[in-house]
Amino acid sequence: MNNMHAQILTLFPDMFPATLGQALAGKALADGKWSYTTTNLRDFATDNYKTVDDTPFGGGAGMVMKPDIIHAAVQSLPRTGRMIYFSPRGKLLDQKLAKELSAEKTLTLLCGRYEGVDQRVLDHHQFEEISIGDYILSGGEIAAQILLDTVIRLLPGVLGNAETHAEESFSGNLLEYPHYTRPAEWEGKKVPEILLLGHHQRIKDWRLEQQLAITRARRPDLLERHNKGEYGNQPAAKGENDDK
Ligand code: SAH
Repeated sequence: MNNMHAQILTLFPDMFPATLGQALAGKALADGKWSYTTTNLRDFATDNYKTVDDTPFGGGAGMVMKPDIIHAAVQSLPRTGRMIYFSPRGKLLDQKLAKELSAEKTLTLLCGRYEGVDQRVLDHHQFEEISIGDYILSGGEIAAQILLDTVIRLLPGVLGNAETHAEESFSGNLLEYPHYTRPAEWEGKKVPEILLLGHHQRIKDWRLEQQLAITRARRPDLLERHNKGEYGNQPAAKGENDDK
């Protein structure tokens, strides 16, 4: 079993585990399927004011996190593992990257604040930059939680039914089909009849048609990748142009 350990470098250790302490991730934490430590960057400040940031060389707005402090914090860690810095200019987090990270033993997660971190310490430790989307957060802590959430649910034994992964949105590059549960009629709206007939192959076909239609309407970029057989973690479901 892959017990994953996250070493989180942050100015706000009390922001963890937050959502990761409850529900699926919380149970996995209690079961020892993953663990984490926080390192408070401020503990490595050397002056009486506990300064961790300074004004940018070259001028401009905001403050920059100091390289010496981050370096000292990294050096205090028992292991290194995969070094990740959260940044809007990083590689976009997607399901493929989450899957890749779920095979790691140790993730070192550096959460930025202010305008970000001095470039030299990122280069020195070869931090890999990851973004959770094209928008600006006020800090990397939520990004770390989002990344960990995507990774934790992929760890062996965390989700009960292994098939859940295979059928999820993005696994095979198609968005998910619509779900329905009881009652079969609600507010005058009926569940699609095909789902009530118990014909498994026809249900499968219907769901794939739904996936293709929803993906075509909402994410033509994903449909294109799907039809080219790119990117999915699972063997792709049949494409639009395949023989049926
Ligand atoms: N000046 C930076 C933004 C700094 S935001 C810029 O314009 O690119 C402060 C911190 O929040 C960053 O150092 C980073 O750790 C985190 N952060 C902000 N947006 C993020 C995103 N989309 N993905 C991951 N981390 C992000």
